[in-house]
This record gives sequence, structure tokens and C-alpha cells, in this order.
Amino acid sequence: MMKTILPGQTIGIIGGGQLGRMMGLAAKEAGFKIAVLDPVMDSPCGQIADIRIVAPYNDAAALEELGEVSDVITYEFENIDYEGLKHLTEIAHVPQGAELVRITQNRINEKAEITAAGAPVAKYITAQTYEELKEKIADVGFPCIVKTAFGGYDGKGQVKIDSIEEIHTAESLFEHSACIAEAFVPFEKEVSVIIQRNAAGESYCLPVAENIHKDHILHESIVPARVHASVLAQAEEAAMKIADHLQLVGTLAVEMFVLEDDKIVINELAPRPHNSGHYTIEACNISQFHQHIRAVCGWPLRKPRLWAPSIMVNVLGEHVAPLKKIVTNYPDWSIHLYGKAEAKIKRKMGHVTIMTDDIEKVLVEIESTGIWSEEY
Ligand code: AMP
Repeated sequence: MMKTILPGQTIGIIGGGQLGRMMGLAAKEAGFKIAVLDPVMDSPCGQIADIRIVAPYNDAAALEELGEVSDVITYEFENIDYEGLKHLTEIAHVPQGAELVRITQNRINEKAEITAAGAPVAKYITAQTYEELKEKIADVGFPCIVKTAFGGYDGKGQVKIDSIEEIHTAESLFEHSACIAEAFVPFEKEVSVIIQRNAAGESYCLPVAENIHKDHILHESIVPARVHASVLAQAEEAAMKIADHLQLVGTLAVEMFVLEDDKIVINELAPRPHNSGHYTIEACNISQFHQHIRAVCGWPLRKPRLWAPSIMVNVLGEHVAPLKKIVTNYPDWSIHLYGKAEAKIKRKMGHVTIMTDDIEKVLVEIESTGIWSEEY
């Protein structure tokens, strides 16, 4: 039975970053109250929340307190304490459960589940120790990428290895956790599909985004992705298979590589709204954040529609000051800043979304500002 949470009731969010903030803003439009657990009082979500619990994410008493003040609990990132979340599922309403977090916070589990769902992944091996890596690495061949099973993001916790002579560069990764080694995928493009599902099994994919990274950090998402229709179909099919296999409730972002022959390979999963879906706030009839709230509150989902092609550009710490100087010259740019106090280099501070009928022209316009160029 799907439990329905209604406006006036309180949604508790574990994590107070920008994803929590945008979820919270979507929920507050409908009259929900927001409680947030974050170590920082003035976090992006804390700034818009009704109730703030200031404590580490894995603080058992704080998690229980969040459970007490909330009618439903969700989370904005996957690196939360699994045991703490599992305990919360026993004492509070956590429709997403804890299993999805257990799987997606560990690349070894994640790869196994993607494979079990019948979706394609790069050839890989798992290694508990550096010695095991040395024994098995020939099975994946070179070049390959060694990644820590736990805790990596935005390219951290991974090393590319071009030949057996370089294997020592992966040794220090084992100080953090077990690892996987996967074949390097010579991709043409990276795309992502965000799929959202409620407890009744109703699910929808958002339009597929094409993602351009700089220094392993998402720079731009272009929607619709500039790929053949057959790629869009494969991408959605894979996302649906994985969501069904995991009995998803909430949001799952599926990141994938597109190969020269138009086949896809799944890279990784994120069990939450995703940076590549921010464009939906302006460009769709339902944003990823509104749909996420509907899913966890047990509401029927809305079939997504894209109003216009769009580009989202991330605003990192070094982009904030120059962006403020020029943004008023661009009436079509929707600017989002997340309220983070310190504009540290490479820190995600906000994003800009531009809806346009001429993607190529706007891509050139964005680069011509110089703000996002390496030399700036
Ligand atoms: P990840 O942290 O797994 O998302 O990896 C970060 C980025 O590294 C990806 O967005 C890709 O650009 C690149 N990458 C990761 N895995 C592979 C792979 N097997 N082959 C080629 N590039 C990869």
C-alpha cells in the first residue's frame, strides 16, 4: 500500500546540499514543510528549511530526531551511513528503503546489480587487495581504470592504467577500500537518463541528457542528447530494466557511455536527483525535484514533456564573480545559485539553464563569454 503524504506534513531530507535545497524548494511550493539533517546550520537546504538538525549524517540520535519530526524521509546523496538509514527504515517512513543506498554506495554491488538487471557494463574485475588486482588485471586488459569501491565521485578515487608497468599507481587506492578495475571505454559521448518511480510501480524517464565534463566535473548538459533515436531507446530501456530490477522508489540517475557503433555501456548509478537533470526546472512540465517529491510522497507521477531544447551550464566557484558581471546581458539565462558562502575553486555553486531552438548557436555563445574557458 502506498502511503500518501500531503501538504502541511513534513518531509525530512538527509543532506543539506543543493540537491536537498532544490527538492525542498519544490516541496515548499506545494505547502510541505521541510526538515533537514546536515552538519552545517547554514547549508543550502538549511537556508530554506523549517526544521534544521545540525549534526553529522551518521549521528544515530540525530537521524532518530529527523525521523520523529518528519512524516516521510528522503535523502540527497548516497554516501550516507547504511546502518543508520536501515535503522531509520524501522522507526520512520522511508519509502525508498535502504537497499538502494547499500547497492549504489559500493561500485562492486552496483556493477553486479546492473548486470543482473540485464544492462551492459564495461568488462571488469573486483579486487579486495592490491595483490588480487595484480593477479586479475590482465583479465580486463589495458588501458583500464581502477576505481575505489567506496566513496569516489567526480573522478576522485580512480586511476587510469595504460600498461602493467603503471599498476603501482593504483596501490594507494586500496588504503580507502576494495577496488574494481574496468576496461577503458573509448566513448563518443556520455549521456544520462533519470528515471523516477513510485511505490505503485509507475515510472517515467526524463529526456536523455548529453553530458560534457571538464576535469571530471560536469560542465554542460545538452537536451535532447545529440544521438540517434536508437541510442535514446537503448538508454531508456536500460534505465527501465535497472529501475524494475531494483524495485526503485524515488529517483535513479543512470550515467552511460555511447560508443561509435551506437551501443551503450552503463557507467554508474546515483539514487537521487542528478546534476544532469537540473534543466528540467525550466525546460519540462515537471522538474526532477517535483517528480521526486511526488514519488516519495506516494502521489501518481506526471508524464514528462520537454518544452524546448535546453543547455545547462554548471557554475563552479571560479565562475561566480565573472557570471555576475554579465548575467544581466542575457535575458534567456535562468541563473541558480545555491547559497554557498564560500566560492571555492571547482566547488559547485550554481548553474544556468538556457532554453533555445538553436543549441549550436547557444553553445558558441556560452563559450564566447570566456567565463568557462581554461584560461579565464
Ligand atoms: P565516474 O566517477 O565513474 O563517473 O567516472 C568519472 C569520469 O571518468 C566519467 O564521466 C568518464 O568521463 C570517465 N570514465 C570513467 N570510467 C571510464 C571508463 N571505463 N572508460 C572511459 N572513461 C571512463
